[in-house]
Amino acid sequence: MLSVSDAEAIILNLVQPLADQRDTEVVDLLTADSRILAVPVTSPLDFPHWDNSAMDGYAVRYEDVQHSSAEQPAILEIVEEIPAGYQPKSTIQPGQAARIFTGAVMPAGADTIVMQEKTRREENRVFILAASKPQEFVRHKASFYQAGRQLLPAGIKLNAPEIAVLAAAQCPQLSVYRRPRVAIFSTGDELVSVDQPLQPGQIVDSNQYAIAALVRQSGAEPLILGIVKDDPVALEKVIAHAVAIADIVLSSGGVSVGDYDYVDKILDSLRAKIHIRAVQIKPGKPLTVATFPTPHSPLYFGLPGNPGAVLVTFWRFVLPAIKKLSGITESWEPVFLKVRSHDELRSDGKNETYLWGKLHLIDGVYEFHKAGGSHSSGNLINLAQTNALAVLPMGKTLISPQEEVQVLPLVNG
Ligand code: AMP
Ligand code: MG
Repeated sequence: MLSVSDAEAIILNLVQPLADQRDTEVVDLLTADSRILAVPVTSPLDFPHWDNSAMDGYAVRYEDVQHSSAEQPAILEIVEEIPAGYQPKSTIQPGQAARIFTGAVMPAGADTIVMQEKTRREENRVFILAASKPQEFVRHKASFYQAGRQLLPAGIKLNAPEIAVLAAAQCPQLSVYRRPRVAIFSTGDELVSVDQPLQPGQIVDSNQYAIAALVRQSGAEPLILGIVKDDPVALEKVIAHAVAIADIVLSSGGVSVGDYDYVDKILDSLRAKIHIRAVQIKPGKPLTVATFPTPHSPLYFGLPGNPGAVLVTFWRFVLPAIKKLSGITESWEPVFLKVRSHDELRSDGKNETYLWGKLHLIDGVYEFHKAGGSHSSGNLINLAQTNALAVLPMGKTLISPQEEVQVLPLVNG
């Protein structure tokens, strides 16, 4: 059976990132957050666009103020007032200064700003009460960014800082990768949807809802295909449809060794190549990963049926695959933290074991608290309000309280 890291490598290797021009769309900057930039951006503007003041104060010539002090202040004549947004008219001559405000354009002739707090004003004269450094508090044109250089590369996720940069560079619309399409269906004769009455023996198809939420949070578009009976004919039809419309297909249930677990058999009959049939992970061992002999084959994940196993395998294997597919050029692998465990953590040592719980900040240090209640893969109730998975590697049967443990924080996308 495959180790978790081998399975992860196989999966990521099978993912072809969106890269084609046909996989891009144009969006307004106001709706571009969390999208993946598809085309690099350059700006014809320098940043700052012109020399400007970093302070409210006075624009002066350095040579006039270099020896100033409270005892022997330089006394300068104020020849202009320059608020932000105005174009200065005068050229500062020896013995002169301009009143200036933060962000306003430096007047010609001046090379230094004296902050207001170091001055005293008397009508149209200003007393400079301390020496300045040359060019102090001047933000020079192009000192942050020079026009024509690459401003943002393709393949980055757009968050608030990038959106601000794009706005400043006057890009009201941009080209981003389309959202990956992820088809979702659940298999099982026992399943009913959230609004149907439960008969004896039936359970609600919670996986469909959980997976749809995870897919949406990952930045992809969920295509909800509903519940499919444990019936080979119905299953084959849905799988064939899902394969035709999606970049990734996520089914849950029917991949174990039971008599009614048909998914792998149907994948075989559809001539799929099954890359993974099981992984040494708990929960989540019966995981199927397949591709189809078609030019744009989606990646098929036959997730286990148990709700705990669905969440764990999604976070561990599916989320990195969606991220890589999305066109993002870095950071698709899960990032683990080393933290202190508050509780005793146990495993049978035969599989890489994932226990859900919560990261708490204790005196500025993260501590993992295992969720109370059953960690059966069939229990989803105590998964609510958790934000991390603790990982016990294969062979490790015990982590004692206060010992270090690796955790996967459950951040989405
Ligand atoms: P299976 O692998 O199909 O035998 O499913 C394993 C367990 O997960 C069974 O107890 C199922 O009832 C449960 N299960 C399967 N699919 C779902 C689902 N969509 N939502 C909630 N539980 C499920
Ligand atoms: Mg089933």
